[in-house]
Amino acid sequence: MKVLITGISGQDGYFLSKLLYSKGYEIHGVVRRNSSMSVGNLNFLPQNIRSEIKIHYGDLTDANFFAKLLADEKPDEIYHLAAQSFVGYSFQNPSSTYDVNISGTLNLANAVKDYSPRTRMYFAATSEMFGQPETIPQNENTSFKPRSPYAVSKLAGFWTTKTYREAYGLFIANGICFNHESEVRGPEFVTRKISLAVADMVRGSNKPLELGNLEARKDWGYAGDFVDGMWKMLNYKEPEDFVLGTGEIHTVREFTEEAFGVIGIRLTWKGLGVNEVGLSEDGNILVKVSRDLYRPLESDNYKADYRKAREKLGWKPKTKFKELVKLMVENDLKSSK
Ligand code: NAP
Repeated sequence: MKVLITGISGQDGYFLSKLLYSKGYEIHGVVRRNSSMSVGNLNFLPQNIRSEIKIHYGDLTDANFFAKLLADEKPDEIYHLAAQSFVGYSFQNPSSTYDVNISGTLNLANAVKDYSPRTRMYFAATSEMFGQPETIPQNENTSFKPRSPYAVSKLAGFWTTKTYREAYGLFIANGICFNHESEVRGPEFVTRKISLAVADMVRGSNKPLELGNLEARKDWGYAGDFVDGMWKMLNYKEPEDFVLGTGEIHTVREFTEEAFGVIGIRLTWKGLGVNEVGLSEDGNILVKVSRDLYRPLESDNYKADYRKAREKLGWKPKTKFKELVKLMVENDLKSSK
């Protein structure tokens, strides 16, 4: 079986490559060129896997690139993971977010339709499409009310792939994934920012960790569990849309407390709103709140109802919240030694 992974250098690309290698796939990945020719998280893969991956350098916004790639390779499966994936950045740069996430997805869907219609395609949709949901938990029937350029772009991608599925009979499945984190999560995402800061403090840093809304409520799972759900979607009898998440809600505050707990520090909080600080037992300021890190519009209150994935795909998350935080902090402690 031949697979093409867009966004193979990102977090999910790393875990998916490992999973599909273990299943005997021939793996092709799209990487966008940069001046240092770095390949992101692919560098963390074991050498035997890394050396087997065939890299195609290209950009999502290049329709001709995908047309030729699909005509040449005709993969059995495509996992379309590549995206401008950071909500905060999407407020600063909405145009490029739309170009990459909307036009890029359209380019790929057109290439599948025109050059490789038997290919099964996965699209990485997101719980951010729910916006600030009023009903908890959220499932495949919850209405979408996106509240960031990122979420709008993903919803456009979602409707594009659904429309192509129905109009042209393509096998395209959408994963409506809730937040999933890991030891290779991008450093700008709040969970990794916390685990890296905690590890830095163990190394002697005195710089307080700066966070935005401590009360933001998310459903955080482990990326290694989620890629198995993605694979199951493409190996299901019908192309459908599935929610993947853990069904547990935790706040940024809880994540932070848990992360400091891993290094034996019990945080106490003082002050309110942007004046709130997190203190160590001896009164040092370890956490500060920064107004600059609040988003123009909050989107949270996420809790996944993943019953459909459990019942139809036999998928469920394995890693619990505390294990996730622990593995992230411990990994950053190891790599910062
Ligand atoms: P990620 O770590 O940010 O990876 C994104 C990937 O897309 C990177 O490999 C990046 O390449 C690539 N990319 C970005 N712009 C590109 C372009 N113009 N052309 C080609 N490649 C480009 O994201 P992730 O956490 O693995 O998430 C995978 C997908 O799931 C994303 O679409 C994301 O939006 C979606 N999603 C993620 C979550 C989550 O919690 N992780 C939840 C829901 C949905 P570079 O290495 O060059 O930057």
